[in-house]
Amino acid sequence: MQRGGKGKTPRRPALKKATNVEKDPVGVYCRIRPICAEDEECCVEMISSSTIQLHAPDGLKANRNGEYKETQYSFKRVFGINTNQTELFEDVAKPLVEDLIRCKNGLLFTYGVTGSGKTYTMTGSPGEGGLLPRCLDMLFNSIGPFQAKRFVFKPDDKNGIEIQSQVDALLERQKRDSQQSVPKTPSSRQKADPEFADMISPEEACKCESVDEDCCYSVFVSYIEIYNNYIYDLLEDAPFDPIRPKPPQSKILREDQNHTMYVAGCTEVEVKSTEEAFEVFWKGQKKRRIANTQLNRESSRSHSVFTVKLAQAPLDADGDHILQDKSQVNASQLCLVDLAGSERTSRTRAEGSRLREAGNINQSLMTLRTCIEALRENQMYGTNKMVPYRDSKVTHLFKNYFDGEGKVRMIVCVNPKAEDYEETVLVMRFAEMTQEVEVARPVDRPIYGLAAGRRQRNQAFKDELSRRLEERGGPSNADDPVLLNQLIDSLPALPPCELVDPADDQTLPRLIEVLERRQHIRQMITKQVNQTANTLKSMLQQFDSQLSAKETFLHDQRSKLSEKDKVILNQKSEIERLEKKSKTLEYKIDILQKTTGMYEQDKRSLQQELEGREQMLQKELAERRRMEQRMQGMVTDTKYKWEKECERRVNAKQLEMQNKLWVKDEKLKQLKAIVTENSSGGSHPAEPPPKPERPSRERDRNGPQERSASPTPRPTVPPVRPRHRRSRSAGGEKWVDHKPSSNLDLDTVMQPIIPNAIKVSTPNEKALSKCHKYVLRHQELASDGEIETKLIKGDVFKTRGGGQAVQFTDIETLKQECPAAPSRKRRSGSEEGPAQIEDVENRAPAGGLSSSSGYQKRRKP
Ligand code: ADP
Ligand code: MG
Repeated sequence: MQRGGKGKTPRRPALKKATNVEKDPVGVYCRIRPICAEDEECCVEMISSSTIQLHAPDGLKANRNGEYKETQYSFKRVFGINTNQTELFEDVAKPLVEDLIRCKNGLLFTYGVTGSGKTYTMTGSPGEGGLLPRCLDMLFNSIGPFQAKRFVFKPDDKNGIEIQSQVDALLERQKRDSQQSVPKTPSSRQKADPEFADMISPEEACKCESVDEDCCYSVFVSYIEIYNNYIYDLLEDAPFDPIRPKPPQSKILREDQNHTMYVAGCTEVEVKSTEEAFEVFWKGQKKRRIANTQLNRESSRSHSVFTVKLAQAPLDADGDHILQDKSQVNASQLCLVDLAGSERTSRTRAEGSRLREAGNINQSLMTLRTCIEALRENQMYGTNKMVPYRDSKVTHLFKNYFDGEGKVRMIVCVNPKAEDYEETVLVMRFAEMTQEVEVARPVDRPIYGLAAGRRQRNQAFKDELSRRLEERGGPSNADDPVLLNQLIDSLPALPPCELVDPADDQTLPRLIEVLERRQHIRQMITKQVNQTANTLKSMLQQFDSQLSAKETFLHDQRSKLSEKDKVILNQKSEIERLEKKSKTLEYKIDILQKTTGMYEQDKRSLQQELEGREQMLQKELAERRRMEQRMQGMVTDTKYKWEKECERRVNAKQLEMQNKLWVKDEKLKQLKAIVTENSSGGSHPAEPPPKPERPSRERDRNGPQERSASPTPRPTVPPVRPRHRRSRSAGGEKWVDHKPSSNLDLDTVMQPIIPNAIKVSTPNEKALSKCHKYVLRHQELASDGEIETKLIKGDVFKTRGGGQAVQFTDIETLKQECPAAPSRKRRSGSEEGPAQIEDVENRAPAGGLSSSSGYQKRRKP
């Protein structure tokens, strides 16, 4: 048996397709049933055509301190209480039937709490047929004229469909008819079960326009019930014993060679009309009801699955017969599932075996939920979670829809009554989640390589043939005397063939001749007809092949075009993306450029600042160097000055000490002389020893000299004599005579007299500016009690800054014993008198001071 001969229902996806198949989300619709009593509390509000809002009932609100959330749920579409069955069908189920006819699988299920209208939606009620009868009606309205004869398609027991010739099918029909005494199928709507008779009014009838007329179709229906996780065939012809009811045999699920799940051994009934299909459905429904009553089951606890399988095969090239090629048989199916009530066990007051049932129902719905969750997670997050289809029969049976391809739709039925509120919330959540699951879109089947319109052409050919035959008095109009007469008239007329004379040898040969001519004409006509027919046939065939070639070409081009279209679309979106990207990049560049500009400006200003600072630093450095040099100069000067000063002081001290020594020596000599005078008794005084010379700098400088042994003659000069000594300071220049107020007023004693001098007690600017010379009188009490007056002299010169500076050039020291101070130089005894006055003149070398900048007393202006 060929693999392709099997009906592929539904097909398993090719693994290679898995990556780039187009997917559609599960279409979830919501239907709100009308509330039973007008005064009943309603907890569902339809907000828009796609959104509902749940309102917690008052009782529940009170329980939860009024904090109950009011949640909105969105669906593909919401059908309010006024929605009629036709509207619902048009929106939800019609596309599924169209798909079915185009060889695509579909799954439609109703989900909700018991009493929410699932069965009403799926099956309907008299006068208001549900989706199921409407689907069947549409299907038969569409394929009605193209249906194959019964038994041409034959389901095998492995979920496949075989095909057999019309003759074989006829034989099988006859065989079955003879086995069943009563004809099984009603032929018209009138004979249908009264309960289903008027489900659909003729004006509501709908039809699919795009049916492939070059195919032949057959519809098979099956009806199963899943109860307590067992599958029961509702169409099985098992004799039912009402007295000792046998529990029905459950069926098992199998996988066919295409890995499609199917119920093994399930009855598939071929139906030829809506009514017949209703009849079968009704039969199953009745059986279900009986079983429920007999076995004390609750119908709301079972899932029912009504499957419509459509087998189709193309007509042959002539368009006259079905192509006897099993690989060309296609099967698609639409499963209409009325799920069990989704309520929890506690609400149904289930007991004993019922509790177990309820548990199982919940279990199978739980599994459905788990499967949907896992699928959603796998699809959304790219995980590879195992989807537990096998955990329940319902999910296992529909596994191929979710991991294969097909269109899946769900109608969530809602009863707005308050009692159902909590269950309804759960239903809504499940429904919202289901919407996020995607199912691979079924692909279009490749068109069989025969020209389209074969059926029509065959029909047209047949019509044309009969027309022509009609024209030429063909078989269909052979009885028409006018045509016959015309034909006869066109033949050579028969000569009179009455034989009166036995010796007449002319009549018969003439007759023979005419008959031969007629025979010849007939042969010619037949030949011509055959020829014409052949030509027509070959022309038609040629035309056919050309047409098919054109069509394949066209099809190729179309597919190419669609590919190109796709490419263009992709490119367009890519371009859009890139444009967006480039815009963002441009914007970024703009910002970056602005930022760069700002930074550059900053950099420039900082550089300028840096340069300024560097210049300042350089200046400061140069200044410092200059200062250092100056300081160094000053240090050297000061050092030199102080060295000189020290030297001078040491010299002065030395001189002083020598003087003292000399005075003492002198005294000692005088004393000695007195002593010796006294001891000799009036002897002449010896020659006075040479008077020791008073040490002086000049002499010191000229080397040490022997001190004279003779005492120094006593000076007879008054201790203080007005000795006017002309100070060296007195010159032609103008002087500033600085005499601090602390100085003792010694009158003219030891005072220089400087003509033209400006006397000041504190030096001031004005005085300095008028003079060229400066002298400071400094008095101090020396260690030996003498008053020492120093005349510190200097030159006044102008500074560059406009002030005056004094450069000291000379120090003159005048020394005098203070009359008030006790003098150690007093002579003992009668020798008391004014203190000896010494005028020691020490002059500081002026050259050293003037050569360098020297110590300067500066006065700033
Ligand atoms: P379920 O199958 O969910 O348990 P049913 O379909 O049996 O619920 O509905 C319960 C009752 O409500 C039935 O009598 C049915 O006729 C009625 N019903 C449900 N939905 C509607 C509707 N949309 N319009 C009118 N009646 C409805
Ligand atoms: Mg029901």
